[in-house]
Amino acid sequence: MRLRIGGLTPLTTIDFPGHLAAVVFCQGCAWRCAYCHNPHLLAVGDDGEGWPRLRDFLSSRRGLLDGVVFSGGEPLFQSGLADAMEGVKSMGFKVALHTAGTHPGRLRRLLPLLDWVGLDIKTSFEHYPQLTGVAGSGGKARQSLALLLESGVDHEVRTTANTNLFDRNSLLALAEELATLGVSRYVLQQCRPVEDRYPLAQGEAAIFFRDRLLLEQLGAMFPSFVARQA
Ligand code: SF4
Repeated sequence: MRLRIGGLTPLTTIDFPGHLAAVVFCQGCAWRCAYCHNPHLLAVGDDGEGWPRLRDFLSSRRGLLDGVVFSGGEPLFQSGLADAMEGVKSMGFKVALHTAGTHPGRLRRLLPLLDWVGLDIKTSFEHYPQLTGVAGSGGKARQSLALLLESGVDHEVRTTANTNLFDRNSLLALAEELATLGVSRYVLQQCRPVEDRYPLAQGEAAIFFRDRLLLEQLGAMFPSFVARQA
C-alpha cells in the first residue's frame, strides 16, 4: 500500500480525545489556505513507502498506544489512506482522522473504519474559495459534514477563530448554521500567526476568547461547546 508521510509524532494525549495516540502527518492537500500551518506538507515529495515505517513503529508500540491519528496536510488527499487505516486496525489500534473534508467521496468510504474525526469547518461555505483558492471547496466541506453527522462516528467540528476571516457577527452566523445542520460538539480554536506568511496583529488572535458574551452565545447553541486557546 502507498502512504506518503511527512512526519510522525510518537505520542499525543490531545489529538484523539481520551486516547494515547501517535500522529501521522500525511503529505499533500488539494487546497491552499493562506494560514496553513504545515505548508511543507502540501507538496507530495515522499516515495510513498511510509507504510512499512509506520507498521514497524506500531509493532514496537503494542500495549503502549491506543490509536493512530491521521493528520496532515490533508489525509484524504491520499488514495491509499483506506488501506493504511485497515492495516492500522488489523494491528489492534484505533483510528482517528483530522480533516478539512476535501474529498467527501473518500470520507464516505473511510467512515466505517474511523473511531473519531476532527472536522475543520473553516468559514461560511460560500466563502471557502476565497480562503482555499479552490472553486467548489465549500460544497465539499458541507458534504463531508453531512456524511459525518449521518454516520454516528464520534467527532468534533471545529473552526479556527481567524480575525482576518470573521467578525463577531459572521462567526455567530456560521455557528448558527452549523447548529441548524445538527452539529452537537463544536470547538472554537485560536488562530496562530504563521511567522511572516500570516501575521496577526498583537492580541488579535485571542480577541474572540476575551468576548464573554460571544462565548456564552456560542455555548447556548450546542450541547457541547469548547473554546480552545493556543
Ligand atoms: S486544508 Fe488544511 S492542509 Fe490543506 S491548505 Fe488548508 S489548512 Fe493546509
